[in-house]
Amino acid sequence: MEPATFVLFGATGDLAKRKIYPALFQLFVDQKLPSSFSLIGLGRRELSHETFQSNVEQSLITFSRSEVKDADVVKKFLRAFRYHVLDVDRKEDYTKLLRLVEEREEELNITPNRMFYLSVGPEFFETIATNIHESGLGSVDGWKRLVIEKPFGHDLESARQLNHTLNQAFDEPEIYRIDHYLGKPMVQRMGQLLHSALWEQADLRTRSITNIQISANETLGVEERAGYYDHAGAIRDMFQNHMLQLLMMLTIELPNRSSVDEVGKLKRKIMKSLMSLNKMDITQHVVRGQYGAGEIKGEQVVGYTDELGIAVDSQNDTFIAAKLRVDDPFWKDTPIYIRTGKRLKEKVTRIVIEYKSKGPLKDLLIVEIGPNEGIFFQRSQSDKERSDVEMPVRSQLSFMKESVKDAYETLIHDALLGDKTYFAHWDEVELSWEWVQPILYAYQDNLIPLHIYPAGSYGPHEADELLARDGFHWWFDFKNVSNNDSTKGDIHTYEYNT
Ligand code: NAD
Repeated sequence: MEPATFVLFGATGDLAKRKIYPALFQLFVDQKLPSSFSLIGLGRRELSHETFQSNVEQSLITFSRSEVKDADVVKKFLRAFRYHVLDVDRKEDYTKLLRLVEEREEELNITPNRMFYLSVGPEFFETIATNIHESGLGSVDGWKRLVIEKPFGHDLESARQLNHTLNQAFDEPEIYRIDHYLGKPMVQRMGQLLHSALWEQADLRTRSITNIQISANETLGVEERAGYYDHAGAIRDMFQNHMLQLLMMLTIELPNRSSVDEVGKLKRKIMKSLMSLNKMDITQHVVRGQYGAGEIKGEQVVGYTDELGIAVDSQNDTFIAAKLRVDDPFWKDTPIYIRTGKRLKEKVTRIVIEYKSKGPLKDLLIVEIGPNEGIFFQRSQSDKERSDVEMPVRSQLSFMKESVKDAYETLIHDALLGDKTYFAHWDEVELSWEWVQPILYAYQDNLIPLHIYPAGSYGPHEADELLARDGFHWWFDFKNVSNNDSTKGDIHTYEYNT
């Protein structure tokens, strides 16, 4: 791997501590960092290099995936770390930063390859990118890359504006937009694994799929993110990015597996084929919800508008379910139902592919993305109250024996290598906003009701009706049966812990 300087904005923040340092450390342990590597952490507080290094060490002890026991290894890792004070608005801070970056490059005798990782609020992205450009930090003989975290804009217009500004400083191939769902091993290998599964259950290749269900259910409420979440809602926080990326990753790989180079092109094609919703469609195909008070794992929890930092009359959505259609020859007859929400009964990210079958037994191909990972085939009663009685059959997926990597390890490694396959490309982001924008307008104009659902439920019952109208139901919404119970029996899942 080529030598590189990792310039980290927001080096004292939560994301850096919980995800970025542990991921970098794991890459170091696995010998996947460049052999010549320099990291410069930036923050507003004055810190000595030593204090910064010891803070990083502390975050490794708390959050690292592998045990931090060899003091020499940690010391060697931390040798690459330096700290610099920077306020994003102060131009002179960037000039000083440039000096430090160059000093370190000379000291280590490394090519000026620079990765700028913006682990800061999105309101700073444009200022930082512009200052990188104007200070000369971005004028390098080597490569330069910009890594940003979602949200990429607040709506279509702001996303375009943000992208326009970023493009003054970085070209599209230099911009790495992290959607951490794309870093999940199961999401990356979903296509390949489904192919193995379909090879085992060969008749499924040729049989019709009646519908697809993509769920990302959380049990957590708004937690400490009230300020951000109350202006984002489930539609911006989850649906526009993670959920649509899951849809793309699933539909591009089935039924034909494609090469890595084709992924971007295929994703764009799917997004362009996604049938847009007019006002009337939205009222029928989108369900908006907000959690009320209820019970999660035996504990009483307050409703959304009673959460700290949330306006008492907030109309923000904490749940969305939608029916989508892809207008292409393979998917045109298959409705795709997506739902995601907070304070739901169980934490799970799962895709269910339901096949056409005669009689009450339904064939399901199930992709578990989290908290457990696995793909399996299950024959179940269409009567949901009884779907746990049938013994599922399994497809063997050997790769699952690998130990699990955190999404950030994979994504940071890919960014250092210059591999953008599992990052969100601008076209996809723009097309996703384009598709979502009419729903944002409908929310704004209150064209669809905000349904209050009890915390600890599966969301508003209108989300069940969305499927019931087409003769389907959400699989595995058992009121009294846990998910583990529903999949017990003679199954050989190759799961690993996350
Ligand atoms: P945080 O508030 O914990 O940290 C923000 C960092 O930005 C701090 O280091 C702070 O010093 C720095 N900062 C703030 N204002 C600054 C200024 N004027 N000049 C220089 N530095 C300044 O936030 P976080 O949770 O680490 O999140 C960072 C980004 O990552 C956000 O965009 C967030 O949406 C995104 N994100 C976070 C998580 C997570 O798990 N924490 C997950 C996904 C995305």
